[in-house]
This record gives sequence, C-alpha cells and structure tokens, in this order.
Amino acid sequence: MEAADLAPIRESVRALCANFPGEYWRALDRERAYPEKFVAALTQAGFLAALIPEEYGGSGLPISAAAAIMEEIQASGCNGAACHAQMYTMGTLLRHGSAEQKARYLPAIARGELRLQAFGVTEPTSGTDTLSLRTSATRAGDHYLVNGQKIWTSRAEHSDLMLLLARTTPREDAKSRTAGLSVFLVDMREVKGDGLTIRPIRTMMNHATTEVFFENMPVPAANLIGVEGEGFRYILSGMNAERILIAAECIGDAKWFIAKAAAYASAREVFGRPIGQNQGVQFPIARSYIGMRAAELMVREAAALYQAGKECGAEANMAKHLAAEASWAAADMCVQTHGGFGFAEEFDIERKFRETRLYQVAPISTNLVLSYIAEHVLGLPRSY
Ligand SMILES: Cc1cc2nc3c(=O)[nH]c(=O)nc-3n(C[C@H](O)[C@H](O)[C@H](O)COP(=O)(O)OP(=O)(O)OC[C@H]3O[C@@H](n4cnc5c(N)ncnc54)[C@H](O)[C@@H]3O)c2cc1C
Repeated sequence: MEAADLAPIRESVRALCANFPGEYWRALDRERAYPEKFVAALTQAGFLAALIPEEYGGSGLPISAAAAIMEEIQASGCNGAACHAQMYTMGTLLRHGSAEQKARYLPAIARGELRLQAFGVTEPTSGTDTLSLRTSATRAGDHYLVNGQKIWTSRAEHSDLMLLLARTTPREDAKSRTAGLSVFLVDMREVKGDGLTIRPIRTMMNHATTEVFFENMPVPAANLIGVEGEGFRYILSGMNAERILIAAECIGDAKWFIAKAAAYASAREVFGRPIGQNQGVQFPIARSYIGMRAAELMVREAAALYQAGKECGAEANMAKHLAAEASWAAADMCVQTHGGFGFAEEFDIERKFRETRLYQVAPISTNLVLSYIAEHVLGLPRSY
C-alpha cells in the first residue's frame, strides 16, 4: 500500500494508543503484568486481524499496513510485543493448514475470540540450532504424545493456541537435515495441567515470556499442520513476515527516541541556552535520524518484495538487522541527551531502552543474520 493509503490507518492507531500513556505502561512494567486492556482495544479495533484474509473475517491488508500498525504502536510509546505474534503466527496455518483447519480457527482468531500468539520453537539445549531440537511428538492412534521442553515461549499464558515445532522422526532416521520436524496447532486450554506446564520467566523488561514443559501431552492428529516431517519449511515461511514486522516496530521505537530527544534538547537549558544548540548534542540526534531513515527504506523494500510474493529472505533479515541497530543507537542517544533524567522512570526512556534491546537477540540474533548474508548472499563458506 502507498504511504497516502496508510495515513488513515496510522492516524487511528495513534488515536487508540493515546488512551494508553506512559503511566499505564509504567504501572504494568513494575508489576510485570500483561497489558490486557491495550491488547483488547487493538483486537476490538481489528488491528491484530489485519493480515487475515477477508474470507476468514480479517481485513486482508498487505504486510505494509501491518508494518504501519506495529510502527505506530511503538512510535506512540506503547509496546506491541504483548500481541504482535497474533498478527503473523496464523500465517503458517493460513499457508499450510487444511481447508478444515482454516475454517475452524481463522474466523475465531480474526474475531479475537481465540488467541494464537504463542510460538514454541526455541529450546534450552538447542538454542539457535533449531534443527537439533529435542521435543518429540510420537503418534499414538488418533493422537500424538508430545514430550520435551521449550523456552522463551512468549505469551503462552495469554494465548489459547500454540504453534509448536516438534520432532516426529529421530534425527538419525530423517531423510535430510531439515526433515523429520512437524508443526502442530496445540489447543492449550485442553492440556493445561494434563501434560502441559507453563512457568513464567522474569526478564529485564515486561515481556510475558515463559518456559513450557510437555509430559505425554496429547495433541489430536487432526491438529498436525500440513505433511508430517515437513514442518521446518512451514516455520521458515513465516519468519520473513515476523522479521519485517519486528523491524517496523524497531523503526517506531527509533522514531519515539528521536522525537523525545529532539524535544528535550530544544527545551532543556544549561549554560543559559538550549542544550540542542550544541553540536555535540545535535549531531547524535541527527545521526540517529539518518540511521532510522536508511533502515526504514530497507523495511519498505522487504515489505514490497514480500507483498509481491518474491523471495525476500535477505531483505527481511537486513531490514531486521538495520532497524534493530537503529532503534538501539537511538535509545542510547536518547539516554545521553537526557543526562540524568534519561534514567528516571517517569520519562519512559529507560523502559523503552530495555524493551528495544531485545531485538538484537530475538527473533533472530544479530550474528545469525550476518551469517545468513555472508553464506547465502555472498557465497562465503558455511560455518555450521
Ligand atoms: C524475551 C524473549 C522472547 C522470546 N520469544 C520467543 C518465542 O516466543 N518463541 C521462540 O521460539 N523463541 C523465542 N525467543 C528465543 C529467541 O529467538 C532466542 O533467544 C534467540 O534466537 C537466540 O537463541 P538462544 O537464546 O538460544 O542463544 P544461543 O543459540 O545460545 O546463542 C547465544 C549467542 O551465541 C551466538 N551464536 C550461536 N551460534 C552461533 C554461530 N554459529 N555463529 C555465531 N554466533 C553464534 C548467538 O548469536 C547469540 O548471540 C525469545 C527470546 C527472548 C529473550
């Protein structure tokens, strides 16, 4: 979608976010509590169903619109991490699920009656090396029995469904390195306390992340997505959308830090003049702005390729990398511009600083993006 067409969406997201000012987020941050009201308001306004096709009750908007929504949430000082996965996790179901599965789940997800915002991939032992994951799903009649553990399964306590990646064929018996993994749509409401245990992990920011344990957890065979053993491919297909949308969030964060710093540098007077009159204060703000704008172009490029159905793995990775660097640089600059006040809770800077740091590590860490570009784009020898 063109910038002009996105303007009304941006405006309505900003209007909604105005009801959730810094005090709202600070109170939740202190308690590490989930922003229920904010998520309910976004759901009710239909924003989280932006990418669900109209035939399933969503708005059928392109990824540029979803990116604009996420960017505006962050640029308003809010935190979309509480619910961003509701937007894109359903993509795996949409692209690879059966007609019956889509008809059963997507309309309820679009209406906000069902939350699908938990994504169980990372495990404590395998980490970034997803193909070494150990959680197993073994067929037993019309069910699979799942055993193992996931970590950093964000929002599991605030989601009805989880998209789970588990091994259905032992690694040594699989026909290739990437075969033998399968994707399941787990209805957590049915198995909490019956094979599924969720334990929250307290982190440096308010993120509702957890570790989950599976002990003979039954999952109906009808909830297998696509073909058994092909799951790694299905998960990968959703990762470009995730990277583009999280990159857009980082652009929003950078815009928030830059606006905050520019305003403060113009208002704060020391030595009888605004601090922003000193080039030592001006230039880091200008540098952050340049970095953010450059990253924004790559986010747009990745979104345009994605929308056109073209290969965009490199661009989605580069967009995520540049945008996460831009938001972190802007966060650091914003603290510096505010001097001591950058550390005071009531300015919200230290909270946003903690929140935006995550995106250098998740959903993919910086090194892994660099390795992708080095090996898949530049043809350098593979390191793993
Ligand atoms: C708050 C939070 C929320 C998250 N939410 C989810 C979620 O909802 N679902 C989910 O599945 N996961 C989630 N994650 C997990 C996240 O995707 C991983 O933390 C991330 O991919 C890195 O994996 P790891 O933590 O196991 O690090 P490790 O794999 O242990 O890596 C540690 C460090 O070593 C580097 N490294 C490892 N191997 C190499 C290599 N070969 N070359 C160069 N460097 C290397 C990494 O880049 C990293 O910097 C979340 C994580 C956090 C912190």
